Amino acid sequence: MDENLNEMISDLKSYLEYLKGMGISSLFTSERPSEKVFQSETSTLEKVQKELGDCKRCKLHQTRRTIVFGEGNEKARLMFIGEGPGYDEDVQGRPFVGRAGQLLTKIIQSINLPREEVYITNIVKCRPPQNRNPEPDEIQTCHPFLMEQIRVIQPEIICALGAFSAQTLLKTDTKITALRGKFYDLEGIKVMPTYHPAFLLRNPERKREVWEDMKKIAEWLNNHERIKKKNNGMVE
Ligand code: URA
Repeated sequence: MDENLNEMISDLKSYLEYLKGMGISSLFTSERPSEKVFQSETSTLEKVQKELGDCKRCKLHQTRRTIVFGEGNEKARLMFIGEGPGYDEDVQGRPFVGRAGQLLTKIIQSINLPREEVYITNIVKCRPPQNRNPEPDEIQTCHPFLMEQIRVIQPEIICALGAFSAQTLLKTDTKITALRGKFYDLEGIKVMPTYHPAFLLRNPERKREVWEDMKKIAEWLNNHERIKKKNNGMVE
């Protein structure tokens, strides 16, 4: 065998031993989206979706019916990010269209925004079987596509729906009860974690807290709009 190849194999073995020593017992080998497409300054959601293609990068593709990419306004000021598609979303190919989705629509409308004006997507784009939680390798594989959606839309605020969304976006394992109701930063974008609408369906007494969080979002958007208009000389 070629000496260089032997050396490479030996190096690789030592590296894997090192990782094992660090307690890392598995590696994600899924195909990553090419950085080249994502470096384009003129990226659009259409391009991101095209790059995602008929994705088979993680095991969720084996059981999904449809890839639920996301929907809404490409220039949205406010973006909602849930966990992953459920049964109805998998069938229809649209995010938040089941019972939790109907509640989300009402939550959005509660701050006087039509659903079409925001952008809605999920941490993972394919339904986990039996609606189980998305697994770390699935979240990690899908993450570059979510981040690219965020970079294209450049919302002013992201509302992270539920623990998975908030913890993934903010790279923390802090509980949603502690995270919710406060603004955090993600690449200069404000992130407001709140409870997931599916959780509210099971715990309607927690709706008041979500209402408080939505009021903070609405207040910020309204004030910000005023500042922007003021800068444009449209308001005294
Ligand atoms: N729950 C989610 O997190 N996302 C959906 O799209 C639907 C239900």
